[in-house]
Amino acid sequence: MNYKVTIQPAGVTYDCNTDESILNAGLAKGYFLPFSCRSGVCGTCKGQVLKGDIDFGAVHPNYLSDEERSKGIALFCQATPKSDIEVQIADFSPEAGAPPRFAPCRILEVRKFSHDVALIRVGLHMNEPLMFKAGQYIEFVRKDGSRRSYSIATLPNANGVRQIELHIRHQEGGSFTDRIFNGQMQVGEIHRIELPLGLFYLRNKDSAPIIMLATGTGFSPIKSMILDFIDRADTRELYFYWGGRTKADLYMHELCLQWAKTHPNIHYIPVLSDEPANSNWRGRRGFVHRAVSDDFPDLSGHHVYACGNPAMIDASRTDFTSQNKLNKNSFYADSFLTEKEKSQTQKI
Ligand SMILES: Cc1cc2nc3c(=O)[nH]c(=O)nc-3n(C[C@H](O)[C@H](O)[C@H](O)COP(=O)(O)OP(=O)(O)OC[C@H]3O[C@@H](n4cnc5c(N)ncnc54)[C@H](O)[C@@H]3O)c2cc1C
Repeated sequence: MNYKVTIQPAGVTYDCNTDESILNAGLAKGYFLPFSCRSGVCGTCKGQVLKGDIDFGAVHPNYLSDEERSKGIALFCQATPKSDIEVQIADFSPEAGAPPRFAPCRILEVRKFSHDVALIRVGLHMNEPLMFKAGQYIEFVRKDGSRRSYSIATLPNANGVRQIELHIRHQEGGSFTDRIFNGQMQVGEIHRIELPLGLFYLRNKDSAPIIMLATGTGFSPIKSMILDFIDRADTRELYFYWGGRTKADLYMHELCLQWAKTHPNIHYIPVLSDEPANSNWRGRRGFVHRAVSDDFPDLSGHHVYACGNPAMIDASRTDFTSQNKLNKNSFYADSFLTEKEKSQTQKI
C-alpha cells in the first residue's frame, strides 16, 4: 500500500510503500536525504514526524530512545509509513539529483601516486553515463554484501560521465585497499557499485566565501568540486586548505598551485604536520583545521566544506562552531569512516 510523504517546510511530496523505508523511497526519487549507515545506527537520517503514523522499525533503544519515539523522532532508514505523513528533516535541500542506482563497472587503471595513495579509474557501461553532483561518492558492493565508499574526483558533465576517477589511500590490514596495494586488483576486473551517493556537494545559495579543507584523499571530492566551480566560472572567493603529514601526501600539489595561479578567486594553502624540519618546505606547518582557525577567527558568513579523516572533521566542526563563530548549518562534511571507526560507533 502507498502513502504520501511530505517533507516540510520544503513541501516536497513523494509516494512510499508500507514495505520500504521513508529514506529509500525518497532517495529513489533523487532527493538528497541525509543518511550514512542505513542500518539504524549512525543517526544521520534522524528526523521529526509532524503528522501521521509510522512504524519506527527495528531500532535498538541505544540509537533511538523511547523518549525520542514518544516525541515523534524517527530514524528514516528504518521507519515505514502507516498513513500519509509529514516530516521535518534538518538540512534538506528540495533540489533533486540523479537517484542512486546499482551498476556494473570495470577497473580501467590502477596507478600509484605514492606508497599509500592510488588512482583507480573505473569505466561504466557506454549506455549508462553517470549524472552526479561534484562531491558525491560511489560504493563498491562486495560479494559478502559489505560496502566500501569512495568519493568521485571527476568533473561532472550535464550529459553524464562514462569514466570515474577515485583516489584511494591504503589502510594497513584493510580488506579492500590491501588488494590494491599488494597488486591483486587487476585492470579489467568487474565490480558492482551503487552511485551516486551523498550530500557533500557545493551549495549555491548565496555569495558567501567558501572554505574547503581536506586531509589526504579527502582531496578527491574537493577536486571534483573545484573543477566544477571553475567550469561554472563561479566568482565566489574559495580558500582550499589541504593537510598532510609530509609533502608526499599532497599528491596533486601542482594542480592546486595551477588553479590558484590562473584563478584570482581561488586560494590554495597547503599545511603539513610532520614534514622534517630540515626539508625545503616553506609552507604552513601544523594541523590543517588549526590553520583555518588562525586565518579566519570570524567564520560567520562563510560556508565550510571538510572532507577526510574523521578526527579532523570532528575537531573542525567543534572548533569552528564554538570558537570561530561558524553557523552550524554552514558546515558540510564527508567523514572517511573505516570499518574500525564504524565498529566503535556501533559499540556505543
Ligand atoms: C562517504 C565516504 C567516502 C569515502 N571516500 C574515500 C575516498 O575517496 N578515498 C579513500 O581513500 N577512502 C575513502 N573512504 C574510506 C573507505 O570507504 C574505506 O573505509 C577505506 O578505504 C578502508 O577500506 P578497507 O576495506 O581497505 O579497510 P577496512 O576493512 O575498513 O579496514 C580498515 C582498518 O580497520 C580494521 N578493521 C576492519 N574491520 C574491523 C572491525 N570490524 N573492527 C575493528 N577494526 C576493523 C582493519 O584491520 C584496518 O586496520 C570513504 C568513506 C566514506 C564513509
